[in-house]
Amino acid sequence: MPTPAAALDLLLLPTWLVPVEPAGVVLKEHALGIRDGRIAFIGPRNEALKLEATEVRELPGTLLSPGLINAHGHAAMTLFRGLADDLPLMTWLEQHIWPAEGKWVDEAFVRDGTDLAIAEQIKGGITCFSDMYFFPKVASERVHNSGIRAQIAIPILDFPIPGASDADEAIRQGVELFSDLKHHPRINIAFGPHAPYTVGDENLEKIRVIAEELDAAIHMHVHETAFEVQQSTEQRGERPLARLARLGLLGPRFQAVHMTQISEDDLALLVESNSSVIHCPESNLKLASGFCPVERLWQAGVNVAVGTDGAASNNDLDLLGETRTAALLAKAVAGSATALDAHRALRMATLNGARALGLETETGSLEVGKAADLVAFDLSGLAQQPVYDPVSQLIYATGRDCVKHLWVAGKQLLDDRRLTRLDEQRLCATATTWGQRISGHRE
Ligand SMILES: [Zn+2]
Repeated sequence: MPTPAAALDLLLLPTWLVPVEPAGVVLKEHALGIRDGRIAFIGPRNEALKLEATEVRELPGTLLSPGLINAHGHAAMTLFRGLADDLPLMTWLEQHIWPAEGKWVDEAFVRDGTDLAIAEQIKGGITCFSDMYFFPKVASERVHNSGIRAQIAIPILDFPIPGASDADEAIRQGVELFSDLKHHPRINIAFGPHAPYTVGDENLEKIRVIAEELDAAIHMHVHETAFEVQQSTEQRGERPLARLARLGLLGPRFQAVHMTQISEDDLALLVESNSSVIHCPESNLKLASGFCPVERLWQAGVNVAVGTDGAASNNDLDLLGETRTAALLAKAVAGSATALDAHRALRMATLNGARALGLETETGSLEVGKAADLVAFDLSGLAQQPVYDPVSQLIYATGRDCVKHLWVAGKQLLDDRRLTRLDEQRLCATATTWGQRISGHRE
């Protein structure tokens, strides 16, 4: 490892360092150095201590890993957390969520809901998230202010939505936001056609052309339920994924969220096109949507990332917990205890997420030159003892309350479990006020 030329801004000395790339490696007696927001050094502790550093921080009992990447969610929906539970997807959407959105969602709702979601995610070890919700410009302002990293997908549907009277207006706003934020170091704009059953061919065609022109990603709910696939087969004579392939939407910049229904032909389309799948196991379990066959996808070479989905259907933004659920569920679905082992589960929650979002050269693993997006988990507590394999302990025995410190692009956003930029008490009070307003107006 070459010695850095200039002094490091910060040198971190954890008990375990898990770079994720190379795969399966746990480094002990190692250090990580940061300069100008990037990882400038990874090497043995004794060598690191000879380097010049403005600040040196011992992190005893902690595991330092790349920050978690929540590859799918609807941030502002945290304000609908627990509003309508234990209902099937279409009843939940049509009778509860869509009416509530029509009544309550405005710029203030998105501002307050997104802040709440960002704070919850930072406290849970997440350094980057994907968002798909109304008023994406407001969401991107909250991301900018908070210091976190995000992909903001512009929601597009065939009918009017809060903030856009039709799909053309939503696309226009998306193109404008894309060009405004083209050089933003922490925000990527993607296009988010909601789902195959809410966006027709004509609008999908427009989205394909624009995304190709801008080299932007497309983020879409696909094959969330068996009903969606069956309805499309009956009405259109083709499965939704096959339709998207015919329209030219699949490709390395395509992010297929859910994919609980996968035929042999679907699998071939995903492999050929090099599309990513974003697995949301807890939302799928809670809405009884079905099971994404993660191990089958992984073995076929498909990039699988993980997401919490919105707090209205999960009901938390706990990606560490989600990853544990994914690891357990993958074994049940594959009928094999070796499916999605702890190290691969962590990779799914970090580097695979970065790859899905087109950020794999910037984040997702601890490598010199990448952004310093890091999380330190405290494994010194009673419930983590003894530690044989810290990654196994992290995935199977650790909750997000063990997240101790977090940095995005070298800026510390969580210090000893305290948010450095957001006011937790104020966020709680604001959310409570929204809850009282919304529940006071329920029929
Ligand atoms: Zn979703």
